[in-house]
Amino acid sequence: MTRALILGIAIFVLIWLVRRSFAARRPGAPDADAKGESAAKERASIESELVACAHCGVLLPRSEALEAEGRPYCSREHLRLGAR
Ligand SMILES: [Zn+2]
Repeated sequence: MTRALILGIAIFVLIWLVRRSFAARRPGAPDADAKGESAAKERASIESELVACAHCGVLLPRSEALEAEGRPYCSREHLRLGAR
């Protein structure tokens, strides 16, 4: 009974040590770091990319633009009025 308990604790500690060493290695790995950084940069550039409204020409982030027929619009009203 006691041996089984000690064995169980030993296995638990071993798994914990292995998992900890993996977790410690991951952020320091150059590949993972570069990938995460470029993905974050890409996301930021998509979010901050400015497009001109096809009706009035005002610049707004692509994420906020309304698109119709491949053209960005700043508002529903300009989308309705269409490109000039
Ligand atoms: Zn507009």
